[in-house]
Amino acid sequence: MPESSSVPEKIVTCPQCKGDSVYAPRNPYRPFCSARCKNLDLGAWASESFRVPAPEQFEDDGTQTHLQ
Ligand SMILES: [Zn+2]
Repeated sequence: MPESSSVPEKIVTCPQCKGDSVYAPRNPYRPFCSARCKNLDLGAWASESFRVPAPEQFEDDGTQTHLQ
């Protein structure tokens, strides 16, 4: 299996830590520099996007108790 090691690797800025990130197939976390940065970004995204307000339940539709 020929190993082509002449593929130029692109260095990009990690969106999370603003550091150098290798944008290449050997970096599965691209454009992040590491799994930690990727998880941090996903965590921030998830915590902001999946903030679903709790459904408010009003039980005053026909279930009123009549005091005598
Ligand atoms: Zn990073």
